[in-house]
Amino acid sequence: MRKHSIWLAALLVCILSMGAFGGRAGAASAESVAPPSAAEFQAWLDGFKTRAAARGISAATLDRALTGTSYITRVIELDRRQPEFTMTFWQYYEKTISDKRIARGRELLKTHADLLAKVEAQYGVPPRFLVAFWGLESNFGDYTGTFPLIGALATLAFDPRRSKFFSEQLLAALEIIDRGDIPADVKASWAGAMGNTQFIPSTYRAYAIDFDGDGRRDLWRSLPDVFASSAHFLMKSGWRRDETWGREVRLPKSFDFALSGLDKKLKLKEWQAKGVRRADGRDLPLADIDAALILPAGANGPAFLVYNNYETILVWNRSILYALAVGHLADRLIGKGPLVAKKPSNDKALSRSDMRDIQRLLGEKGFDAGGQDGIAGSKTRRAIKAYQGREGLAPDGHPDSRLLEHLRGNGG
Ligand code: CA
Repeated sequence: MRKHSIWLAALLVCILSMGAFGGRAGAASAESVAPPSAAEFQAWLDGFKTRAAARGISAATLDRALTGTSYITRVIELDRRQPEFTMTFWQYYEKTISDKRIARGRELLKTHADLLAKVEAQYGVPPRFLVAFWGLESNFGDYTGTFPLIGALATLAFDPRRSKFFSEQLLAALEIIDRGDIPADVKASWAGAMGNTQFIPSTYRAYAIDFDGDGRRDLWRSLPDVFASSAHFLMKSGWRRDETWGREVRLPKSFDFALSGLDKKLKLKEWQAKGVRRADGRDLPLADIDAALILPAGANGPAFLVYNNYETILVWNRSILYALAVGHLADRLIGKGPLVAKKPSNDKALSRSDMRDIQRLLGEKGFDAGGQDGIAGSKTRRAIKAYQGREGLAPDGHPDSRLLEHLRGNGG
């Protein structure tokens, strides 16, 4: 599944398949796919080889990497799965932030302290974040994928629906092999996410670093390369070395939920003036930092103030839940406590058809939810917010069963 932990770097894949909130769970259906004949696939591969050669990839690399490459039906099945449920914040949180993962991450933080300090000195990303990404992406290197990289990418590039994006990824992977970074028979996720960091090939090509100086950028077997590559990617994506990612906060009794959303930034002192406090009740820090308030489980769930570095985590993976998990796991690795907010007893994932109902009912009431795809994207959330505002509900933009009942009860 969206191994939320495993193939995350595939930004486009995430955007296409997950909507803004990321986590996926539950039964998944898959279309059955008729594979091409071997001759048909080989003809396509031959044509691709010509294009790759024109891009400057050596004939030796192309022969080594593409000879014997076959179409992998399973990759297409995985790509076309439509999950029946989207994970709730709490389901995602429990899946990604386990006590076991925290304990192991703390150990690894100690074991690799010297190396991580060197990487931080050069790129400005603190060790706790590098270990948190490592834990979420591959469970600290346990899961780097079992599909032949070139076969998986060639299969997706052959698929007309995915051809443009994955043809580019296949070319990037061949260039990485051509420069001698990795062997041609390397294994990756079904979507071509690579190594301990699960970088997609274009990210690997652009940001991977040979930190141990052996001449190869190896994100499978070299932890110096793994940590430095993560830090380099984050640095180039706008990471600020002197700031953290954000924190859980407590909201005052009467709070204007229309202030929530990543696009609404206020200074910390302005949030303080509106009655927002740290989760333990203490004042917010006085730093002159812009922060946005996000409510991943709606007005009745936990609230977070997030800073610039949170948005940098979103460059790595455009999932709000993933970015919160990275930030929170990083905090746990240095001894901070669990969330103060508690999971409600009625936490329940909406099914895709419930979500489609919400979109349809919003549309019938004059709020443009952007079609009925069953995914709560930004347009749907804006429509929910507008509906909530008109109905006198807390305008948190969050789809849940309570919202669905309200929509149905109002003449839907
Ligand atoms: Ca190296």
